[in-house]
Amino acid sequence: MTTSTDPQRMERIVSLCKRRGFIFQSSEIYGGLNGCWDYGPLGVELKRNVKDYWWRVMVRERDDVVGMDGAILTHRAVLKASGHEDTFSDPMVDCRTCKTRLRADQLPEKNGVKQCPNCGGKDLTEARPFNLMFSTQMGASADENSLAYLRPETAQSIFVQFKNVLDTSRKKLPFGIAQIGKAFRNEINPRNFIFRSREFEQMELEYFCRPEQGMERLEYWKEERLKFYENIGIQRDKLHVLTVPDADRAFYSKGTYDIEYEFPFGLQELEGVAYRTDYDLKQHQEASGKSLDYFDEETKQRFIPHVVEPSAGVDRTVLALLCNAYDEETVTDEKGKSETRIVMRFHPRVAPIKVAVFPLLKNNEQLVARAREIQGALRPHLNVFYDETGAIGRRYRRQDEAGTPFGITVDFETLGEKDAALRDTVTLRHRDSMQQERVEISNLVENLLAKTR
Ligand code: ATP
Repeated sequence: MTTSTDPQRMERIVSLCKRRGFIFQSSEIYGGLNGCWDYGPLGVELKRNVKDYWWRVMVRERDDVVGMDGAILTHRAVLKASGHEDTFSDPMVDCRTCKTRLRADQLPEKNGVKQCPNCGGKDLTEARPFNLMFSTQMGASADENSLAYLRPETAQSIFVQFKNVLDTSRKKLPFGIAQIGKAFRNEINPRNFIFRSREFEQMELEYFCRPEQGMERLEYWKEERLKFYENIGIQRDKLHVLTVPDADRAFYSKGTYDIEYEFPFGLQELEGVAYRTDYDLKQHQEASGKSLDYFDEETKQRFIPHVVEPSAGVDRTVLALLCNAYDEETVTDEKGKSETRIVMRFHPRVAPIKVAVFPLLKNNEQLVARAREIQGALRPHLNVFYDETGAIGRRYRRQDEAGTPFGITVDFETLGEKDAALRDTVTLRHRDSMQQERVEISNLVENLLAKTR
């Protein structure tokens, strides 16, 4: 597996994201808020499709997983018991020359000497732990007792609600609880666009099982998660599974895999799949004094379940999709002129816009009316975009950049003006091959739903 980097490619992707409205820097007009990003009209659709597909395959299509949505503001005791208050930190150093704060474990070395990536200085302070949690004050008084945290991961509310979910859903082991939501980490050095940010979203599953099932479920979930990425268009050969070595694993974990993707800035983690034993539930049972065990009706045994956790980042998945989809190719237009076509080759399942509808001419009432009618019929089923401005070739190109897999053009054949047999048909254009076919309007919904679900 190569770890080559391509900074120019990354720059082009970031610039397309801004130009086309996928992702903007947060608070941009005030100079930007470091480590925070806002998703624009195309980005929010892409991100929503990722989350919806995850929820569909991880929760709705399974009998053994239920969902929940926990609060972001978290009781201090929860994060004390989980170990975050005392140990959720990264080693930090300051560069004495340019005053930049840096992660000690990510410093580049020259001739064996660590140096500042910003100014090249070698005068660095000793490393000290920097806690990554954002704290806040709840209520009007600002004392020790009002301290709360913004959650650094979604997992803890799942553990804390384990008993309530178990009792109300009446699930039997093995079963899982899934959650998608925001998490916050005061990263020392946010970087690589949305890869490492201070506010991000996670998609996490805590899969509870019997102790003897742990290792086998770890393998199972690693494979399921690889399938997920393939099903949203990330080829298997762009993914890499790292078996986290014993020394780098959390002490309570019996096995951890990192699923990595070949980003233009190198091979980096998309998701962690970890067998966490009974550590989390045990910690919360001890600290809260409330029982978090499971009673097995068949064996009449009472025990604390073990857990396997696939934990994925929404934003990192979106970034992988953007990097994976970006393509430039040279094409020749009808007049024989060659030009560069920028095309986002998203899998139709995640593409922000599924289909664009174009009347051939905007000043022909009949064409416009027919195109609007088709837009109206498709709208309840999938995300449709209507565009009537500019030459048809230009309109196709705009949709290529947005990654829209299908384009429908309403032309004079549709109206039956050229050939009666073609009445009520439209041109369906395919983004990747640019090929066009004639299809019947009456089958459009079914046809497109089959290709985009
Ligand atoms: P890293 O080593 O990259 O900081 P991590 O191992 O601390 O990540 P986990 O705590 O396992 O990450 O979090 C699970 C997932 O959440 C990661 O695989 C990643 O997809 C996502 N994630 C974690 N931190 C960030 C962040 N700062 N920005 C965006 N996504 C993140």
